[in-house]
Amino acid sequence: MFNKILIANRGEIALRVLRACRELGIQTVAVHSTADSEAMHVKLADESVCIGPPASRDSYLNIHQIVAACEITGADAIHPGYGFLSENAKFADILEAHNIAFIGPKADHIRIMGDKIEAKRTAMRLGIPVVPGSEGGVTDPDDAKRVAAEIGYPVIIKAAAGGGGRGMKVAKNEGELKTAFQTARSEAGAAFGDDAVYIEKYLAKPRHIEVQVVGDGQGNAIHLGERDCSLQRRHQKVWEEANSPALNSDAREKIGAICSEAVAEMGYSGAGTVEFLYENGEFYFIEMNTRLQVEHPVTEAITGIDLVHEQIRVASGSGLSVQQNEIEFQGHAIECRINAENARTFVPSPGTITHFHTPGGLGVRVDSGVYSGYRIPPYYDSLIGKLIVHGRNRVECLMRLRRALDEFVVDGIDTTLPLFRDLVSDKDIADGKYDIHWLEHYLAND
Ligand code: ADP
Repeated sequence: MFNKILIANRGEIALRVLRACRELGIQTVAVHSTADSEAMHVKLADESVCIGPPASRDSYLNIHQIVAACEITGADAIHPGYGFLSENAKFADILEAHNIAFIGPKADHIRIMGDKIEAKRTAMRLGIPVVPGSEGGVTDPDDAKRVAAEIGYPVIIKAAAGGGGRGMKVAKNEGELKTAFQTARSEAGAAFGDDAVYIEKYLAKPRHIEVQVVGDGQGNAIHLGERDCSLQRRHQKVWEEANSPALNSDAREKIGAICSEAVAEMGYSGAGTVEFLYENGEFYFIEMNTRLQVEHPVTEAITGIDLVHEQIRVASGSGLSVQQNEIEFQGHAIECRINAENARTFVPSPGTITHFHTPGGLGVRVDSGVYSGYRIPPYYDSLIGKLIVHGRNRVECLMRLRRALDEFVVDGIDTTLPLFRDLVSDKDIADGKYDIHWLEHYLAND
């Protein structure tokens, strides 16, 4: 087991990882920018190192400074959280060269899954169902036309290096294809420094369903069921559930087994998420994230398994703590992402939180790094916390969520809490009847 872990992240996830380290008796090192010296994870860590000015590229993305912080403090492993360096294969390579363990998969696996064209190829080879589309990248507008005609309109053009829902364009017919294709390429080039794009059938009303897996790097892997993340705004997840209201246990076992067998065959090490669109009873792979996800707590709630513990165990060579046949899915969990944003316009609302009161009680978990008097710096993601509620079934979970949302107080800034208070009482939500476009329609008609 590791002696000391450096947490190369900030906010709620830094605290989340710190808590797991504490439980395992591992020392922690926080790193932070000058804008985050008052952050909760910095206050709670055993040691902390300032790694640079506010801009992420100079601090949380500054590999040189992070490795130096590791060497100064004698940390033997790094947990990257999500975002920042968590899916950076070069970072994993550099750590290996410095004899520092990266709590995540091997650099090669990060590289394969980071290129969505390569990821799709790999998925197909491993027997995972994919969205019909181009075989590899498309560079020529005439090729794009030919491929689109073959798969049938509407189509979606996606960046190979894409992430966070950026660099995607839909073309409803051939007339729209040329512009969509060119815009997607130039956006991809500008956002990711790589203008490679591929084409897929655009699914009209799918759900977003993703499977949590953990591999031990020795050819063993487990799945921890699925999460339904269909409630999205601009392709960004807003509310997540486990299990999906759309799957029964047979479908769950089937897709779960396909995913765990695939990652076992890859020799994958660490936590990962295989993301699918799900329509008319069929799964279509879209990508695999090679890290811990923001929404991992809903899986923890229904399985009772601490995913960060598993990540740390696997990275240190201690293996998984559970086998597939020991995993049970109990009850239902929902997570709401609380952002410092206006609940209708989604305009960011940085500033000082004058009062912060979190709900409690049975089945309620709040993961957040903020507190009363905390000043939210304007430089980073607007996520300030997550409310995760668990119940014996979905009805009880919604009841409890409604109560917990009522108790939650965040004064001084705008947050997305009012949106969740509306959603929790909506009929479609109560019925579990929503697809990936539902929330955009709801917001447009509000
Ligand atoms: P990113 O890596 O940018 O998150 P994804 O491939 O995971 O990109 O897709 C993000 C979201 O975009 C999906 O959850 C879905 O809402 C939408 N999307 C992606 N591919 C398709 C498709 N073929 N048809 C319809 N919607 C899609």
